[in-house]
Amino acid sequence: MNSKDEASIIMGFIMIVIIALLFLIMHSVDNAKWNNGVCSCGGRYVYEQSVGHRYTSSHIYKCDKCGKIIELDSIKNQEVEDDEYKR
Ligand SMILES: [Zn+2]
Repeated sequence: MNSKDEASIIMGFIMIVIIALLFLIMHSVDNAKWNNGVCSCGGRYVYEQSVGHRYTSSHIYKCDKCGKIIELDSIKNQEVEDDEYKR
């Protein structure tokens, strides 16, 4: 193994760590926005539609009380709150 191989292995490892961190950040941002499906006005977020981007897709939710729109990277299910963690 030469030093070039080692460098590419290290780069690959760094990339994996960065992607994992980005995923975690996106997930926590999602959860903060989602706020267990409760809007700051006290209404519930209702699923509106999914929007496809080039590499990802977002899911639009709208508050049933004030009409505030949030965009999430993952689908949230109000009926089965813990479903995400069981999978
Ligand atoms: Zn609201």
